[in-house]
Amino acid sequence: MQTKTASLQMKILSADYILLMDGEKTVLRKGAVAFEKEILEIAHSSEQLTQKYPQASFEYLGDNSVLMPALINAHTHLEFSSNKTTLTYGNFIEWLTSVMENREKLSSGNIESVIEKILKEMLRYGTATIGAISSFGKDLTPCVSTPQKIVYFNELLGSREEFLNESEADFDRRLERTMRFKSDSFIPAVSVHSAYSTHPKLVNKAVSIAKKYDMPIAVHFMESKGERGWLDKSNGEFKAFFKKFFGIEKSLTTTAEFLEKFEGARAIFVHCLYAKEEELEKMKYQNAHIVHCPISNRLLSSRIFDIEKAKNLNMDFITATDGLSSNFCLNLFNELRCTLFMHYDLSLKVLPYDLLESVTKNPAIALGLPVGQIIQGYSADLISFNLPDTLENDEALALQIILHTNKVERIYINGVEY
Ligand SMILES: [Zn+2]
Repeated sequence: MQTKTASLQMKILSADYILLMDGEKTVLRKGAVAFEKEILEIAHSSEQLTQKYPQASFEYLGDNSVLMPALINAHTHLEFSSNKTTLTYGNFIEWLTSVMENREKLSSGNIESVIEKILKEMLRYGTATIGAISSFGKDLTPCVSTPQKIVYFNELLGSREEFLNESEADFDRRLERTMRFKSDSFIPAVSVHSAYSTHPKLVNKAVSIAKKYDMPIAVHFMESKGERGWLDKSNGEFKAFFKKFFGIEKSLTTTAEFLEKFEGARAIFVHCLYAKEEELEKMKYQNAHIVHCPISNRLLSSRIFDIEKAKNLNMDFITATDGLSSNFCLNLFNELRCTLFMHYDLSLKVLPYDLLESVTKNPAIALGLPVGQIIQGYSADLISFNLPDTLENDEALALQIILHTNKVERIYINGVEY
């Protein structure tokens, strides 16, 4: 298996706009950044750095250039990358049924080469870090070989008591295999599929492993109305589904019992569309993170996450694409643009910067990686691209980036250009 290699040279890049994503909305006009594997120094002018680091190569990125932290897609499912028009959208249960019926078809063929191609595309979209949910381990080789940083979430799934040993053994094998490739760029982690699909004993196991190895643990939570009805009352749309496929008549847990299990873990709750206020408060108390995937949520659940509710609780949110099983591309710029228009009632003076934070600073904190901001000592994971014209006002920079950017001109990971 090929491993991630790098050839390094000290560099200084200057751009018309350097967006630090430091939480202060700082924009340095005609500023410069010096870096090797890590960011060495940030300055208001390139002269300050070229004098201090005469050995470094220097480059100005051109008219209307933007330099900012590379993007982080904290939640995707690479193993489902073959889907284009196969799966059914518009209703969560119908979609889930279509996933179960087409699982073989979607993961057959040369899935590794499909994933390699997708990872290369994601580089061009400016994504340097990916949170990949792995259900089968079929994405391992491309994830280990790619230059991007991968937080690899080994998923635990299974609700039937009689198959628990089998599910555990399969998970143990996959986890052990991923641990052999652990590095700064390939970080094994754990995922619980959801409260409705994962037996409480398996949830306990996943949480204890995540705590033991200090790993983040990702969980789909309250993605659909059906999930709400099933966990609250063992009723609703999920009732017939569980009876038909699993012979189960009653939910194995309540949301309160389920959330309690993540106490003390580095939890990342994905979707939370139908989460109640007290559940969000519980997540806040647990220092958990929330990911929303607006395009996927539109296609499967006809609802988007209430960003205002999270902000009122002082919770940062993360935006991600989910997998190609519920999206048409894994381009975060496209995802942010769609999100901007879906949340038509939120201020254009506030939302665009929040959205950029949701794919840089916020997911970096959730995944526990020193990326997502241009700060001295952080990894030199950077992207650059050029806007079509100049800007009068720095306040409009985030909005104009989201409106005009599809691909990046350059991407650096650990200081190496790809
Ligand atoms: Zn997902």
